[in-house]
Amino acid sequence: MGSVHFENTAAIGHAWILSSPVPEEALHRAQEIAAGAVCLAGHDVPCGNCRGCRKAAAGVHPDIIRVCRETDRSGKLRREITVGQIRDVAADAAVLPNESERKVYIIEEAETMNLNAQNAALKLLEEPPKTVIFLLCTVNPDLLLETVRSRCLSVSVSSGSTETSGDGEKRAEGFLKAMRSGEAEAVWRWIAKNETNKLDETASFVEAALQGTVDMLCGRADPGRLTPDRLMQLERLLEQCTEYLKVNVNAKHVFSLLAVHAPADESQPRRMGETS
Ligand SMILES: [Zn+2]
Repeated sequence: MGSVHFENTAAIGHAWILSSPVPEEALHRAQEIAAGAVCLAGHDVPCGNCRGCRKAAAGVHPDIIRVCRETDRSGKLRREITVGQIRDVAADAAVLPNESERKVYIIEEAETMNLNAQNAALKLLEEPPKTVIFLLCTVNPDLLLETVRSRCLSVSVSSGSTETSGDGEKRAEGFLKAMRSGEAEAVWRWIAKNETNKLDETASFVEAALQGTVDMLCGRADPGRLTPDRLMQLERLLEQCTEYLKVNVNAKHVFSLLAVHAPADESQPRRMGETS
């Protein structure tokens, strides 16, 4: 296991959209991230042993707050998460955490936030208190306002991914290994080998690489030489690739994007075989 320090919320992102067609999967991932955020170990989080982790696992951590649809007076589940609930979150978020460095709000079925609730959430996401992380769980991120989506890191946590995910995972492993080495050469070498991949292969690679990056961000995988900042950059870069692929851009463009931005900032991209 690697050691990712959550020194500030910026290092792991202050707002995430965790999507899966299976709601339990998104919730489970949210709970893992939340445990990592309140873990007191300082490295290899969540450690699973400290007071923070134990409370998180038992569902009694005062700094992990779950927001879900409420029941009405007759005991029936309401259809929506209301603006009142989000305003309560905003008021609570302004108060410092109780026991850990930060507070985590898990919003379940975030797509059930009505329009007013989403607009209230948007305000909160625009100027989030420094100590707060929002985790929006949803079956479909497209059901959230575009303005809300644009404020969050969007991650698909579905385990039932595409058929080619096996190959995608293998490619992602190769790519992330090169990234972890901190050697720009290794990254370019990998890109040169893969840039002729087909569109669907590239899509499954990007999805798997994103998963792997999130795992490193959450402290579930060894980040090698990648600092939290670099991991965040990589996360955003892969998100951008995902956006590219949504509009069916040529796979080669995705690799160009990676070639320019994936290696460390101080390195300049160049083709294999060229001398600098
Ligand atoms: Zn812990």
